[in-house]
Amino acid sequence: MTGWLGGLQIRRTERGQVPVADLLCVACWHHRRVTGRTLVADFLASDPITQHRAQCPAQQKDTTR
Ligand SMILES: [Zn+2]
Repeated sequence: MTGWLGGLQIRRTERGQVPVADLLCVACWHHRRVTGRTLVADFLASDPITQHRAQCPAQQKDTTR
């Protein structure tokens, strides 16, 4: 179970087919939401989970990786 930092969920609003990406870190409860096709694509391309893992305050004391 260690190492699981929450998740990334992609969905679409019914109206306008606008994609919405939600990133949730269960370690520090950081939440970030990105809305819009271009922003979501950029967000996913930037590997937000890995990025957050490097910054996550809850992971500072447990950096086994
Ligand atoms: Zn975090």
